[in-house]
Amino acid sequence: MSAVQSISGKGHAANAETYDVVVVGAGFAGMYMLHRLRGQGLSVRVYEQGGDVGGTWYWNRYPGARCDVESMQYSYSFSDELQQEWDWSERYAPQPEILRYANHVADRFDLRKDIQLDTRVDRAAFDESANTWSVTTSDGKTVAAKYVVLATGCLSNAKIPDIKGLSDFKGKVYHTGHWPHEPVDFTGLRVAVIGTGSSAIQSVPVIAAQAKHLTVFQRTANFSIPARNAALTPEERNSFRLNYPELRRIAREEMRNGIVQELPDRGALDDGDNERRAKYEARWAYGGLTFMGVYNNLALDKAANDTAADFVREKIAEIVRDPQTAKLLQPNNHPIGSKRICVDTDYYATFNRPNVTLVDIRSNPIEEITPNAVRTAGTEGLKDYEVDALVLATGFDAMTGSVAKIDIRGRDGQALNQKWAEGPKTYLGLMSAGFPNLFIITGPGSPSVLSNMMVSIEQHVDWIADCIAYMRDRGLEVMEASKEAEDKWVTHVNQVAHSTLYPQANSWYMGANIPGKPQIFMPYIGGVGAYRQICNNVAAKGYKGFAMTGAERARTAAAS
Ligand SMILES: Cc1cc2nc3c(=O)[nH]c(=O)nc-3n(C[C@H](O)[C@H](O)[C@H](O)COP(=O)(O)OP(=O)(O)OC[C@H]3O[C@@H](n4cnc5c(N)ncnc54)[C@H](O)[C@@H]3O)c2cc1C
Repeated sequence: MSAVQSISGKGHAANAETYDVVVVGAGFAGMYMLHRLRGQGLSVRVYEQGGDVGGTWYWNRYPGARCDVESMQYSYSFSDELQQEWDWSERYAPQPEILRYANHVADRFDLRKDIQLDTRVDRAAFDESANTWSVTTSDGKTVAAKYVVLATGCLSNAKIPDIKGLSDFKGKVYHTGHWPHEPVDFTGLRVAVIGTGSSAIQSVPVIAAQAKHLTVFQRTANFSIPARNAALTPEERNSFRLNYPELRRIAREEMRNGIVQELPDRGALDDGDNERRAKYEARWAYGGLTFMGVYNNLALDKAANDTAADFVREKIAEIVRDPQTAKLLQPNNHPIGSKRICVDTDYYATFNRPNVTLVDIRSNPIEEITPNAVRTAGTEGLKDYEVDALVLATGFDAMTGSVAKIDIRGRDGQALNQKWAEGPKTYLGLMSAGFPNLFIITGPGSPSVLSNMMVSIEQHVDWIADCIAYMRDRGLEVMEASKEAEDKWVTHVNQVAHSTLYPQANSWYMGANIPGKPQIFMPYIGGVGAYRQICNNVAAKGYKGFAMTGAERARTAAAS
């Protein structure tokens, strides 16, 4: 669609292209946002810094990359035709297949014509005299838009560790979140993987099978549950397809994390040892993220949590033959589930291979990278691990990282980064006071990364699209979160978080993986069902907590 001034009007620089909405990012969130808004007759421009659509699945091409929410659930629900026609091959689809799906969606809904690829949004500034945003992109252009939607992703700003000598390393350096498009062959090479979060846990078994030697540098051991991945049978696919309306409803409304599962009616300490063990064994055998759903108090009660953590630690000791390696792999500094639980295929067993070494960098920190080695120092003195290639599985500046990279200026020229210097502040994770008509999809203060992200993305996109339609129908021009509603929401998000065990871990949920980042629990832990209800109630009450004004009032307010 060309730049049309359908709801936006006067006041922009005479020759600036004007859109109703600029969307930043063409991952699953940005693509669905475009589809919804265009369906409402709005002019939309999507900017994507990557070379194609897909977001996470465009960037994270590392060996073993796949989803850890089952594909029949980690998929769009907005189009019944789409969910009926797409065939997922495996219980957890691999990255190339998820990327194919993203491309299929882009083509099927004719999205590409409104998406400008290879273009980064650098700046967005609110012009109070015109009630529009000026959006500046890396191709040197500035366009005007009534609304800006940040679909920039919670896990899209790869974190490159600050290690002395990294740039002098002679071999190839890869980040899992920026993997090359051409195949990477580790055959005959000595490889180092730095980090042991989800991406490392997925890639280590695959790299180990190829490399001559693999050295894994671990600071913090993480809990991982076997995926039990397998090909999906036509019967399995059909049982979802036939019941999709009800299954999607349950995921949205009744589940905390947006994943359909049996809900426990008791706590871990309500069962005797044998019964509890049998339940953990059954979930371990079933595999996947629902392990944490065995009991209803694993995220709340440390003694209950210990029973699940002990079970997994025992499993690690059973799988890993060398007792010292097993001990290092057993997480012992955070409750299970308080960091994002990982899902793996043969991760622990990989450490039984003769070509794999585990190095504990808590007791022997990485001192520097030399041109051909990773050098550690500590209890064992200086030690060089000679390697030909480095894989940085060091994660992301999560939730706020990609937003912070854009210079966003709201009322009175205030910078969002300045407002969020002590931690992100939003109302419902959707808007931040002082930044009118700027929406964030799965922003901090919403369930986002604690959920099946497809459920959270669709909920936010629908809410934002409905909200823009509401404003348009009533001739309203400017919407803004009130400071009071925002403060109350921030307090609520913190209170709920602190009633659980989550803040006990130094996790990326807390910003703890980024030196200097304020440590605030960022996602909303109240569950997707409860959160949806809150958002719906706010809308039903005329967007309570948001100020909405017509053109004249907004201009008068801006002028006074
Ligand atoms: C390896 C991995 C596995 C995952 N597995 C799961 C899973 O199984 N289940 C689950 O629920 N979630 C999973 N996630 C989370 C995943 O990020 C979300 O499920 C989902 O893909 C997010 O979609 P999005 O569109 O919100 O963000 P993204 O997919 O991150 O897309 C955001 C896009 O915005 C672009 N962008 C950012 N800033 C700018 C800018 N300034 N200008 C232009 N473009 C910009 C980025 O390039 C990116 O393409 C996983 C994440 C990773 C990293």
